[in-house]
Amino acid sequence: MNSEDLIKLSHLYPDFKDRVLAVVDWVKERTGREMFPTETLRSMTRQRALYGRGRVFDPRTHVWTVIDRSKIVTNAPPGMSMHHYGVACDFAFRGGDPYLAGLPSLQSKTLWAEYGRACHVQGLRWGGDWNGNGRQDAHDFDGPHCEKSYGVKIQTLLDSLQSPKGIKAVWRVLDRERGIV
Ligand SMILES: [Zn+2]
Repeated sequence: MNSEDLIKLSHLYPDFKDRVLAVVDWVKERTGREMFPTETLRSMTRQRALYGRGRVFDPRTHVWTVIDRSKIVTNAPPGMSMHHYGVACDFAFRGGDPYLAGLPSLQSKTLWAEYGRACHVQGLRWGGDWNGNGRQDAHDFDGPHCEKSYGVKIQTLLDSLQSPKGIKAVWRVLDRERGIV
């Protein structure tokens, strides 16, 4: 991890950060490949921009409509992504081919699956499992993503984030759920 990576990781909820560091160690040990964080904490504004790709918003009805399925990058509307709460992270592989697009498909699948296995070992939810839930669309596969809700409902996290203490309030809720305060 270089200093830029460590700055990104410092925006994560501390327990979640420890878990993703263990994920990176596992992958390195098993595959020899180094992973690095591409995105950790994400603002509502950025989520809105990402959610808007491939969709249009009607301000009268407040309804989003899909106009180009191939452009969709997230299924989480603003507020509904774990990235807002410091408990989600996206990783890629260090080097010239961060998403392994140039590798034979089996090799690339095996590497992402090793990352997924490391996430499971650390008690994290892996984005690569999402198209296993009966949905076969490749756009639902989010191999780089991992997250952990700690059993807290996203609406609770959102309410805390919108309180005066913001992210600190969110992390306090998570601490309480884990029984450490
Ligand atoms: Zn993500």
